Amino acid sequence: MATEKSYYEILGVERNASDAEIKRAFRKLAQQHHPDVSAEAGSADRFKEANEAYQVLSDPKRRQVYDTVGRAGLGDMGGTGSPFGEGFAGFGDLFDAFFSGMGGAAASGARRGQRPPGSDLRYDLRITFDEAVRGIDKEIDFSLLDKCGTCGGTGAAPGSTSVACSNCGGRGEIRTIRQTMLGQMVNVTACPRCHGEGSVISSPCATCHGDGRVQRHKKLRVTIPAGIDEGHQIRLSGEGEAGTRGGPAGNLYVAVHVTPHPKLRRDGTEIYCDLALSIAQAALGTRVRIPTIEGEEEVEIRPGTQPGTEIRMRGRGVPHLRRTGSRGDLHVMVRVAVPTKLSKRQRQLLEELAAESGEVVLSGGIMDRVKDALG
Ligand SMILES: [Zn+2]
Ligand SMILES: [Zn+2]
Repeated sequence: MATEKSYYEILGVERNASDAEIKRAFRKLAQQHHPDVSAEAGSADRFKEANEAYQVLSDPKRRQVYDTVGRAGLGDMGGTGSPFGEGFAGFGDLFDAFFSGMGGAAASGARRGQRPPGSDLRYDLRITFDEAVRGIDKEIDFSLLDKCGTCGGTGAAPGSTSVACSNCGGRGEIRTIRQTMLGQMVNVTACPRCHGEGSVISSPCATCHGDGRVQRHKKLRVTIPAGIDEGHQIRLSGEGEAGTRGGPAGNLYVAVHVTPHPKLRRDGTEIYCDLALSIAQAALGTRVRIPTIEGEEEVEIRPGTQPGTEIRMRGRGVPHLRRTGSRGDLHVMVRVAVPTKLSKRQRQLLEELAAESGEVVLSGGIMDRVKDALG
């Protein structure tokens, strides 16, 4: 027989490894070599070996004996007489028990007295561009499972109360103890009769049939803050569906949708407005009326304004949702509209303008030029 590997070598840890390190090392090996996971030849043996090492090293008494006199000292305390020596039928359960136990006790198991919360609800609310910018209070009306008024949400008929569940003795959980290779495993499951609540209703409420909830309409006033935007959600804690039998209510999420403005565009806190000027207006300057959140406003366009010019009206944009008193800007984007259709007089004047500037232009209308060509 070849020299036996030490238990420390098997787990790949130092002699002075802490309990946590040993546990971690075993867990890693078990995940790698567990027969349910690995089809590799020799995996079952590796798992058995690791398990034996873990059994000894995770037990302070056995570890001390092993450290002092080696495997021989363990005698029948040793790992070789494992109850799972033959076959691996039990490993699935063992595996689950081991890993769920390590993951956190809270993860598994309904604890007594903790009723699941009601569902969250979503309400789609459409508002106008102006309402989004200024903010508004809106009344919403929706249907939900709400706390039953007859029983106050307990689900028990008035006058009756809930009684301790006889299946679990009011504990809400069923404990089973099993012997495994890793020692005793306590398996805790929610009681199937009372669903982990520990109590059952002797006489259910006639209105809600013991659920503690009834379907009804609810009206709520929702304050939409100034500056809200498309896709934002407002959370109203505890305004969602009631939980069963007095469980906490879920939340209501109001999803905001904003109808676009016919003339204004929005990007965050900035508002954009397109302004088309004629050639004459851009060249000579003018006064135009601009749509703003506060209504139309007259803006002066200076002579010689170029296409692409941006006129910025500071503080006339959208309020910041979080920084009160602060607003974005309104950007007026100037373009110059070149006429595509000209009256005879307009054409004449433009031709004169071109002549005055010494510019070469196509003269005459299309009809004139057609006549010339036929001429
Ligand atoms: Zn009821
Ligand atoms: Zn029970």
